[in-house]
Amino acid sequence: MTQHNSPEETIFSRIIRKEIPADIVYEDELALAFKDINPQAPVHLLIIPKKIIPTTNHISKDDREVVGHLHWVAAQLAEQLGVAHDGFRTVMNCNEYGGQTVYHIHLHFLAGKPMGWPPYQERLKTA
Ligand code: AMP
Repeated sequence: MTQHNSPEETIFSRIIRKEIPADIVYEDELALAFKDINPQAPVHLLIIPKKIIPTTNHISKDDREVVGHLHWVAAQLAEQLGVAHDGFRTVMNCNEYGGQTVYHIHLHFLAGKPMGWPPYQERLKTA
């Protein structure tokens, strides 16, 4: 049974505490990055803050540094993985219409193939 220390906790809190396994590719005092279990591109990472922030709507003025940090981590990983030049996509989904399923903000980092834009056309095709 899932143990949550606070009502805001999700599975990502357990990954941060290393209570459940994840393929971690980066960690520092503010953030963690690991492979998405259901990859939507040849490279699909999730970059998350260690602080629990449920959705983009909950980002406070004090969170600006940590949220900016997630993008800095994305840039480091892009360089490390050799995808900076070809390009990549970072996405943060918010709530139901944004397609959010885990309520601990996370930056999707997708790379390794050209991607379509705008994304809502992709969704209409499968509707
Ligand atoms: P979102 O739909 O934007 O909230 O994205 C949540 C993402 O978390 C999805 O892409 C899932 O595949 C991914 N995910 C859920 N559980 C895990 C897990 N235990 N390890 C890695 N990725 C996960």
